[in-house]
Amino acid sequence: MADKEQPTKRQIAKAMNHASKLPVNIKVTTAFISKIDAKVKRLFRYILADYRHRFKIKYINTPMSVVIMGIDPENSPSGYLGVTIEGDERMLVQIEDHRIRDEDEKTHFWVETKFIENLCHELVHVCQNLTDPECKRRWCYIAHNKKDEEEAYFFNRFEIEARILEQFYRDKYGINIFMSGRKDIEITK
Ligand SMILES: [Zn+2]
Repeated sequence: MADKEQPTKRQIAKAMNHASKLPVNIKVTTAFISKIDAKVKRLFRYILADYRHRFKIKYINTPMSVVIMGIDPENSPSGYLGVTIEGDERMLVQIEDHRIRDEDEKTHFWVETKFIENLCHELVHVCQNLTDPECKRRWCYIAHNKKDEEEAYFFNRFEIEARILEQFYRDKYGINIFMSGRKDIEITK
């Protein structure tokens, strides 16, 4: 007989969803070609809740609208696999979405994995922007030449943090997105 004291999977999922509710000042919109919007939003809520709890850090209390979108890799304006652009009370996350171009339903495991990882990486940058910037993360510091553009980017403490967390969040919360929501896609010029 099942132990009635043990919460069911459904109860746990409900509690997790509740625990990861977004603060009222933070709004999230998504735009992807495959039907993964609900999963991306949930991924973001989980990551933000984990991030806040892990670093015992406060949210900003100004309004913030976060837009997360997949962009065509062949027309990527930045040339990066992912970027987070900050504006006045707005943030725009652009992720190169291989699903827009791939005709093969069986996307390579590595490409799909990297897509989720890039998404998690940029979502960590969003978390950094949504929380107290003064929170010290000394464990992230690696000596470098700040005048060297490449070193300044690679050893920036927020970049190091995002790189450390991207794979952890991919495995912990991103796995639901893996290979899901794909449909035949047509591009009209
Ligand atoms: Zn980054």
